[in-house]
Amino acid sequence: MKNPKLIWLNISVFVLTGLITVIGVPLYAILHGFDGWQIAAMIIGIVVCEISITAGYHRLWTHRAYQAHWLVRLLFALGGTYATQNSILHWASDHRRHHRFVDDNQKDPYSAKRGFWYSHIGWMLRDYHTTDDTEYSNCSDLKEDPIVMWQHKHYLPLVLGINFGVPIALGLWHGDLLGMLILAGAARLAISHHMTFLINSLAHIWGRQPYSDTNSSRDNGLIAFLTMGEGYHNYHHSFQRDYRNGIRWWQFDPTKWLIRSLAWMGLVNNLYRTPVEKIERSRAQMLLSKTSRKLAGLPHTDVLITRLQMEYDTLLKKINDFSLAKRQWMEARKTSVMESCDLETLRHQVNMLKENFIQQKKDWLMLNANIA
Ligand SMILES: [Zn+2]
Ligand SMILES: [Zn+2]
Repeated sequence: MKNPKLIWLNISVFVLTGLITVIGVPLYAILHGFDGWQIAAMIIGIVVCEISITAGYHRLWTHRAYQAHWLVRLLFALGGTYATQNSILHWASDHRRHHRFVDDNQKDPYSAKRGFWYSHIGWMLRDYHTTDDTEYSNCSDLKEDPIVMWQHKHYLPLVLGINFGVPIALGLWHGDLLGMLILAGAARLAISHHMTFLINSLAHIWGRQPYSDTNSSRDNGLIAFLTMGEGYHNYHHSFQRDYRNGIRWWQFDPTKWLIRSLAWMGLVNNLYRTPVEKIERSRAQMLLSKTSRKLAGLPHTDVLITRLQMEYDTLLKKINDFSLAKRQWMEARKTSVMESCDLETLRHQVNMLKENFIQQKKDWLMLNANIA
């Protein structure tokens, strides 16, 4: 079969910025040198590019994980243009298809099942036609956002203006124009590109699967570190509307911290969080299937398998009891139909059921660890 035709514009951008980064940067550093201002302009540029994609393109626009003031949306739209990963509308349309058809080699635009190279960058080098949806029918909600449509309509002049304009302005101010073009222009673009691309490639290949193994997505702390928190990709594919990717306090998710800070300032609202019981159910189900698989190959495990299933059923029951009571309590609090003493009794009950569930979770984890 003939290969689809090459997209020379994309190839030129990736090859040119890549070569300048791996050859031009060290050469210029030896012959001329860079100073702190130039390095800072590159690092800040990388952070601006990456976070505009993760907090803006990805969590805000693609997944509607929260709502944002127009000023925030404008800044993310400009930062995302600086990142040069296509318009918000186009990016979100691709990414929504990635979630819907994940790992389907025909319909997922960057299916990891086609290998590292394809999902990392290869899918952008040839016209693979994974969709002919030029109307972006899966993004009709985004067409209501004037900032999204403005950026989409003027994407090319905006990309050229901002990608040359910012490094040139910085270079003229600084005095070393060429150095700034190399570092804050080309290297910033190439590095931020590949860091984001890791989410489509490596975050579908390397890491743990605590929430689901129905698709190839993985949780990986190192990738999270390089991608502003997007490396908790197994969680994200399981609960895509959540504004968080790293849900534990110790997990590195600066995108989540930024969104939370903006909420604190009143600039964003309606942050969506997956209910904790839903997350716990997924984790328990995943652990049950992993441990069952381990036991399946061993002799005389009938008693253990029965015990495992029983503990799992008890855990699910306790999660459900806690979840139901919590919902009732929250509802009662909102509608204020209950006397305050009854409300207090209900709250006590929720706490008790929560403790029951936490204790059962400990027993469950211990049982699984002992079997492993
Ligand atoms: Zn993915
Ligand atoms: Zn996503």
